[in-house]
Amino acid sequence: MCKRLTAGESVYCTYHDKAYIQIKNKYPDWKYAFENMSWERYLETIIGLKEIGDLAKAVATEELRLVRNR
Ligand SMILES: [Zn+2]
Repeated sequence: MCKRLTAGESVYCTYHDKAYIQIKNKYPDWKYAFENMSWERYLETIIGLKEIGDLAKAVATEELRLVRNR
């Protein structure tokens, strides 16, 4: 996804992987707050947030692509 080296098993580099972990860790809160929000819907929602960072946005966009291709 980016030109940096990936971190071990992850498809993401250490920077994007950190963002991915943050996204993943926040999902249960959102899922709880928004009545079983799906992972896909969650990703769409956070991509639309003004306060999302570039790294998180890139990761969320990639994850959304993956979930739609499944
Ligand atoms: Zn990266």
